[in-house]
Amino acid sequence: MSKILIHNPLRIATMNDAQKELSGGHLLIENDIITSIGPEEITGNFDKIIDASDMVVLPGFINTHHHLYQSLTRNIPLMQDQPLFNWLTNHYEVWRELTEEAISISAKTGILELMLSGTTTTSDHLYLFPHKAGTELIDREIEAAKEMGIRFQPTRGSMSLGKSAGGLPPDDVVQTEEIIVADTNRLLGKYHDDSPGAMTRLSLAPCSPFSVTGESMKRTAEFARANNLMIHTHLAETIDEENFCLEKFGHRPAAYLDSLGWIVGNAWVAHAVHLSDDEISRMGNCGMGISHCPSSNMRLGSGIARIKEMLQAGVSASIAVDGSASNDSGNMLAEIRQAMLISRLREEHHWLSAREVLWMATRGGAAALGRNDIGELSVGKQADIALFDIDSVEYAGSKSDPVAALIFNQRMSPVDHLIVNGKIRIENKQFKGDLGNLLKDHNRISNDMISQAQKNTGIDFLNLPSEF
Ligand SMILES: [Zn+2]
Repeated sequence: MSKILIHNPLRIATMNDAQKELSGGHLLIENDIITSIGPEEITGNFDKIIDASDMVVLPGFINTHHHLYQSLTRNIPLMQDQPLFNWLTNHYEVWRELTEEAISISAKTGILELMLSGTTTTSDHLYLFPHKAGTELIDREIEAAKEMGIRFQPTRGSMSLGKSAGGLPPDDVVQTEEIIVADTNRLLGKYHDDSPGAMTRLSLAPCSPFSVTGESMKRTAEFARANNLMIHTHLAETIDEENFCLEKFGHRPAAYLDSLGWIVGNAWVAHAVHLSDDEISRMGNCGMGISHCPSSNMRLGSGIARIKEMLQAGVSASIAVDGSASNDSGNMLAEIRQAMLISRLREEHHWLSAREVLWMATRGGAAALGRNDIGELSVGKQADIALFDIDSVEYAGSKSDPVAALIFNQRMSPVDHLIVNGKIRIENKQFKGDLGNLLKDHNRISNDMISQAQKNTGIDFLNLPSEF
């Protein structure tokens, strides 16, 4: 049995129901489970003792929405200043060049970035399947997540409405509904684990109302309900989307989703920026989740989600970095800070506190993903833990509240230790594992994809300002 002792922490924020915090004492991990936590110091034989006297100890963060492959296409000049629809149309031309290798490498890079910022669980929304890339893209990212050691809740994404059928994406990156269903069943049989402590659990995720048929959305919801699965999609991200839905379906986006059986407790949706009071209370009543992606919403000029109202209505609001082509970082701690700061641009009674955004990034994330085994430091929960040393320049003068310091102050270094499923994955700010030529490979693939897209389309993706 492996035993890890976290000794004498500066502060533990348990994120339990009472939001209890404690200073000093211990937290004991046996194998993959937290078996003891309390104010007294304990002694004995341990495989590892972590002296946490300068550290804030938190449940590892849970990132509920990402497109890991997008870390290959960050800040491409042409799309830097475009809002969602143009941004998407141009990116599709580059994403068409994805390969199995590209998926594998970008998943590792994206996961590494998440882990260095304190993330122990992530979801991913992979919905784009270029026909020439082979059929096992989700397999490659599941393998990458296993190699990196993160807890992974990937979604089997999908798009079935190509350009010729009135959708936004090119025809050669969408799939027929028969292929989507067959591959979903294959993946569920091969990887899905719904037992407590699962390291790989699948969910289903049609991309959005403008890339999938209503019939297919409906069938997905029914299939998920019958098989105890979570469902996920994008919702109410921009005003353009709202206008598109009103024009095409005669409904606002949330009402359209509702008509397809998607406003349900086993669903979580990304963005949820443009919602009415009624829509928020409908979503709260059924206890569904949302992924708040503040950086992406700012980057694409989408708007400010009404998080305070959603929390009050009972929505499981979580925080997510979103894909790296619209953030363009995968830094979860920075994203949590953004969530607090962007709320301050609203009226004062809608402001979020440091502890509210931390709750969203831990318990909110667990609830959004339909889990109760993570997101909390309590006896019997999974040992997914982030330890942040705050004895550094950016925290000087802020120790009156070490927990809030992590959110109010901008951290400049990685997490000090990261424990996932009882295993130390980051120690003294270093990822424990062989990364090979990860970043070199990542940049080579990124460059190749953009060059190929330029050749195919004649579009100048790199229209940089002229040099002098
Ligand atoms: Zn997204």
